[in-house]
Amino acid sequence: SCLSRMESKEPEIHAMLTVTADAAIARARELDGRRSAGEDLGPLGGVPVILKDNMCTAGVKTTCASRILEKWVPPYDATVVRLLLEAGAVLLGKANMDEFAMGGSTENSAFGVTSNPWALDRVPGGSSGGSAAAVAAGYAPIALGSDTGGSIRQPASFCGVYGLKPTYGRTSRYGLVAFASSLDQIGPFARTAEDVALVMEVLGVHDPMDSTSQPVPADEFSQALAARDLKGKRIGYLKEVAEYDYDERMKKALSEAMKACEEAGAEMVEISLGTAIDHGLASYYILAPAEASSNLARFDGVRYGSSSKDSESLMELYLKTRKDGFGDEVKRRILTGTYVLSAGFYDAYYLKAQKVRKVIKQEFAKAFEKVDSIILPPSPTPAFKVGELIDDPIAMYMADVFTIPVNMAGLPGISINVGFSEEGLPLGVQFIAPRWGEKELLSTAVVME
Ligand code: GLN
Repeated sequence: SCLSRMESKEPEIHAMLTVTADAAIARARELDGRRSAGEDLGPLGGVPVILKDNMCTAGVKTTCASRILEKWVPPYDATVVRLLLEAGAVLLGKANMDEFAMGGSTENSAFGVTSNPWALDRVPGGSSGGSAAAVAAGYAPIALGSDTGGSIRQPASFCGVYGLKPTYGRTSRYGLVAFASSLDQIGPFARTAEDVALVMEVLGVHDPMDSTSQPVPADEFSQALAARDLKGKRIGYLKEVAEYDYDERMKKALSEAMKACEEAGAEMVEISLGTAIDHGLASYYILAPAEASSNLARFDGVRYGSSSKDSESLMELYLKTRKDGFGDEVKRRILTGTYVLSAGFYDAYYLKAQKVRKVIKQEFAKAFEKVDSIILPPSPTPAFKVGELIDDPIAMYMADVFTIPVNMAGLPGISINVGFSEEGLPLGVQFIAPRWGEKELLSTAVVME
């Protein structure tokens, strides 16, 4: 039924880059046989799952929505893919995204934009827009995305689904094509808090293949769903957000969610995260491109993917392959990244941004002495129109102001749908918690359902 839903909706939504229908049906049949024979298939036995196309899948193309990897087939599975398969999941295919996860609308895909299932002339958000749209359109109950500066939480909000960005180090990045390694984290999209918890129980395990994966014990996330009230909880709201000029519909969603928290027993506490909101964005757009420029150096036409044909020297091969293979936004990031890392500017930009990052971390640590979690919007606006921001990269970057600080501090954050605007656009709110506080987020999310 997921595949036929996909078949009927894909012509208008275009959330998928690769659909592995035959393999999925064969796998489902095999699982069915094993279940009939009395075998326990695992916590995701038979559950269809979709992956963002930056997670390596053995024998299945992994393009990162880039021309440079258009035909690249990885020889191995990312750890998250292995864990899903071991838990009994059925993979349906790979979802569209902004090229190399750089963007917030899926418009930077080399293979065409994805439409928001709630309003086809609008973007699904990004960079994991295909995954969010796929879950919203009913292609699968679960999809995975990656979040470097908001790419799970913002599209979840735009598409009216749940999206969790775990604590940095909770899910393995082994086999995730790196964008900014110190910020990237894989997490789930789903339509209920319960499904988010279930997937996290499968993915939230230590992986020796990723040196930044932390050896924390696997959590029983589903336990967090039992309480169903927020008695004794203190939830922080930001002075800076109250003063920020953003969309009225998002403001209303936030204040209604705050009311709901209070009704469920929480105490709302005003806090301040001045550096995070005022300087987080600017420092992210130094650090993330810096890391990206280094990570993307490997795409040289020799080691991976496509390679320019008629070059006369190795240097020409590098130049042509990268010129033809990367889109504008990726080139913009590489240029910015190499610039801020260059000898003359390193101290002024990269080093300074690292210092800001440290202050942001300290600021959050202080805030969490007073509150259990923090509520804020996932983005300043609901889903915008296709083409609306594409010619204004700075405006597109500004849309990440409320999600980026969370990555800078390595914290977990969840985006949940709390309603719809008059014209039918999904409206979300975001909660963030201290490191390893995913349970806190889930217990809040379930109360808001
Ligand atoms: N929109 C942000 C960017 O373009 C975040 C992307 C992401 O989280 N992958 O960098």
